[in-house]
This record gives sequence, C-alpha cells and structure tokens, in this order.
Amino acid sequence: MKIGFIGLGNMGGPMAANLAKAGHKVAGFDLAAPMPGGVVKAASAAEAAAGAEVVITMLPNGAILRAVADEIVPAMAAGAVFCDCSTVDVESARAVAGQAQAAGLGALDAPVSGGVGGATAGTLTFMVGGSAEAFDKVKPLFDIMGQKAVHCGEAGAGQAAKICNNMILGVTMIATCEAFALADKLGLDRARMFDVVSTSSGYSWSMNAYCPAPGVGPASPADNGYKPGFAAELMLKDLRLSQQAAEAADADTPMGELAAALYARFVEDEDGKGRDFSAMLPRFEARHRQ
Ligand code: NAD
Repeated sequence: MKIGFIGLGNMGGPMAANLAKAGHKVAGFDLAAPMPGGVVKAASAAEAAAGAEVVITMLPNGAILRAVADEIVPAMAAGAVFCDCSTVDVESARAVAGQAQAAGLGALDAPVSGGVGGATAGTLTFMVGGSAEAFDKVKPLFDIMGQKAVHCGEAGAGQAAKICNNMILGVTMIATCEAFALADKLGLDRARMFDVVSTSSGYSWSMNAYCPAPGVGPASPADNGYKPGFAAELMLKDLRLSQQAAEAADADTPMGELAAALYARFVEDEDGKGRDFSAMLPRFEARHRQ
C-alpha cells in the first residue's frame, strides 16, 4: 500500500519504520525528526499525502492536527483514508473527520496505548472511531503496528476511549502512590504491601504492571530513577483532555478533576517535569498531611 506518514517523532518514527519493514511504500514528513530506515522523505506534508491510499498523522496536539489537515486534505486522492493516531481533544478529532469526509475521504481517529516500547515492538493497542469501511481498509496496517485494534464507534469514539482509559490510569496511579506513602508511615514493608494488594481488590495496572515503588514488582521506570516511560507532562495533557471533554459533555468527574490538578501542580510548580508519571510516589513521600 502507498502510505503517507506525518509526524515521525518518538511514536511515529518506529510506527512508520514497521510499516516500511512490512513492505509498504511509506513517504514521511516531519518538521524536525529524521526519517527512519525505509521511509522516503517528502518535501512537505502535502507531498507525503498526495497519491497515498492511507495517510497517518502522529502529532503533538489538536491545534497542530487541524493545521496539518488544512494542508493535506486538499492534496489527498479521492477515496483515501485520513487516519489520525495522535492523542487530541474529541472536538478536533470530529472536526478533522468532518473536513475529510466533506472532501470525499475516509476518516479515522485511532489513538494508541502502549508507549514508545509498543510502537517499536509493533504491539500497540489502537482505539478507533470512524466508519466500518475506513476501519476495514486500515486494519491490516493496525495489525502491523499493533497487536489489537478496537473499532469503538463513530468519529471521536477512539479519542473518547483513550481519554477515559487515561483518566482511570491517572487516578489509580495517584491512589497507588499515596497508599504506598501511607504504608511507609504505618511501618508496612513495601514488598509485603505489593504482595497483598497485587492479588487483592486494590490491584490495578498501576500497581501490578507499573509499580511506582523501586525494587518492588516487575521492572518499571521507578527502578530507573523515574526516567520516562510515560512522562508526567503527557499524563497531565491527557487528564486535561478528559476534563475538557467532561465539561463539554456535562459529565461529573471529580476524581479526574483532582488528578488533573495534582499533576498540574507536580509538573508546573514542583519537580515533576521530565519525570515519569509514577514519580508521584517520591512526591507523596516528601510531604506531610496539610
Ligand atoms: P513527539 O513530540 O516525539 O513527536 C511529534 C512529532 O511531530 C515531532 O517529531 C514533531 O517535529 C512533529 N511535528 C510537529 N508539528 C508538525 C507539523 N506541522 N508537520 C509535521 N510534523 C510535525 O511526540 P510523540 O511522543 O511521538 O507523541 C505523538 C502523539 O502520540 C501525541 O499526541 C501523544 O500524546 C501520543 N502518544 C504518545 C505516547 C508516548 O508514550 N510518547 C503514548 C501514546 C500516545
């Protein structure tokens, strides 16, 4: 298949490389990042998109996605599919899908879970909004870049699934970290705490797969000085998207709101920027009841 790929950063680079490795013809464009092996560099986003059957974008945010869409939608071939894999606000996802459909294109919002490790290994999970026809056309590419693709519903449904998932993740990480800090003060050994909670009703991905306590549980960023992994500022971005969506949809999300406020303080006023999002544990360790 002829593929255009725009945004080849930490995630997009290895995703595009996997498509090229599988034998697809990939034309890439990025303002800064180098092209990975097998990807042909285009002179502009429009040039990467022209003539492609599927155009994939992997960009930092909704405003940049909208600007890129303005540039590439007129350049895309009739019947091609515009597949955005970035994490953006639901409104931008729906606006770009509407713009593409009005121009006779297919459109999907297909954000991912799995991080840079998953992008490199080709084991991402895709959560996808858009028509069944567009989903079926891009599914073979999802199968190369990932291990699972769920068709969640119409335009915006993929972003909705992503921000709901990450709101749960932010809240459970905070709960897990504050519980470890409390356990410390109660004199409970961390390994014993993990042993109990990871097989009791307090378990979660944050505890079991990504334990924020160094030396406890499986290897995680906590064992590597809290080097990301998944940076605290990216968690803050996703929590803000969840709160923006909650406000637009008039949904009551008090825990998500509190998690967004805590990560904002951590990233903007404390030492959280550039650290893994599980570094909430040393933050709680260092603080007393207020
Ligand atoms: P990144 O900053 O490494 O990559 C983004 C790339 O987009 C950069 O290389 C940048 O030069 C390029 N870019 C920006 N504006 C552009 C434009 N107008 N035209 C062409 N290229 C442009 O970010 P990333 O970590 O690869 O994340 C990309 C998206 O994936 C984000 O929406 C992020 O939230 C999401 N995501 C990231 C992770 C992760 O662990 N890093 C996990 C899941 C989802």
